[in-house]
Amino acid sequence: MILVFAEAVNGQFKKTAFEAVTYGNKTAQLLGNQCVVLTLGKVNNAGQLGEYGASKVYNVSDANLDSFDSQVYASVIAQAAEKLGAKVIVLAHTSTGKSLLGRLAARLNAGSVAGVKSLPDIAGGSFKVTKGVYSGKATAEYEISSDLKILSLSGNEIRPAKGGGEVAMEELHLTVPSPKTRVLQVKRQEGIVPLPEADVVVSAGRGMKGPEHWGIVEELAKVMGATTACSRPVADADWRPHHEHVGQTGLAIRPNLYVAIGISGAIQHLAGVNQSKVIVVINKDPEAPFFKAADYGVVGDLFEVVPKLTAAMKKFKAG
Ligand SMILES: Cc1cc2nc3c(=O)[nH]c(=O)nc-3n(C[C@H](O)[C@H](O)[C@H](O)COP(=O)(O)OP(=O)(O)OC[C@H]3O[C@@H](n4cnc5c(N)ncnc54)[C@H](O)[C@@H]3O)c2cc1C
Repeated sequence: MILVFAEAVNGQFKKTAFEAVTYGNKTAQLLGNQCVVLTLGKVNNAGQLGEYGASKVYNVSDANLDSFDSQVYASVIAQAAEKLGAKVIVLAHTSTGKSLLGRLAARLNAGSVAGVKSLPDIAGGSFKVTKGVYSGKATAEYEISSDLKILSLSGNEIRPAKGGGEVAMEELHLTVPSPKTRVLQVKRQEGIVPLPEADVVVSAGRGMKGPEHWGIVEELAKVMGATTACSRPVADADWRPHHEHVGQTGLAIRPNLYVAIGISGAIQHLAGVNQSKVIVVINKDPEAPFFKAADYGVVGDLFEVVPKLTAAMKKFKAG
């Protein structure tokens, strides 16, 4: 049986959960097995996971699961895997999935691969998966030989596929340990999709000349429904907050669309964004290295191009 942990934030499932269930379902089909989904804490509309291929959805409800604690979650997922006889556990490669993968592998004595990007190759009884390495410049193939295998699925590698119908959610009774630390308060920025989950990202660099000019970037992001990001020197200079810094030493993201404004495209920057599905570069220097990684490029002064793009977007959206 393939056990997928479907992650929810404030009770709502994220796109990465639908991707993980789709992946679990496809893996189950390959192995001639069932895809069972586990949800933890308060969740809304878990039955919808059936549409992505879950044949059953189990939930463990307990106040200790309402906020994320990797030790508590790992304990409960490990118990569920043992109780249900899982052969493969699938997580999303989110910050939650990353913090669970190693704990689960250690608890369950299982082989694990973090950030897989392909369905398992099971030719000849083997179990091989691939993942991107060296900032996505190469692909490595891993074979897992343990009985139980644990995978975290990279975002945007598999399109969530609907096919099945809703399924009923069943309560699973397990021992939920008490967390060693307790979350007292969570403050979220309203209306902004966190960078690692954003489908569209508008990012800017030192070409902006100073923080006082960021209004045009924010306006474009608003029209496009995008989250903003920046290059490292911009965050280092306190032009933008550090959580917006993407790249080798910042966040690695893979949105569907990444718009890079006044960013040169240094290798350390590209390391965090070159897995984006579509890259648009706006730079006045036609020799800027970013153009080599771009799907679309505009050679021009960003102070002219960005307001025109925003106006065109507004017109397009209004029409
Ligand atoms: C160990 C290490 C780790 C690093 N990690 C990261 C990282 O995680 N993320 C990261 O971003 N960087 C990182 N860097 C820094 C990286 O090497 C680059 O220095 C940095 O990405 C450059 O930022 P930038 O493109 O914003 O600035 P610049 O290199 O100064 O480029 C600015 C660009 O704006 C263009 N421009 C200027 N004016 C205009 C205009 N009016 N209109 C249009 N275009 C214009 C210029 O042509 C230029 O291409 C790291 C470096 C090291 C050594």
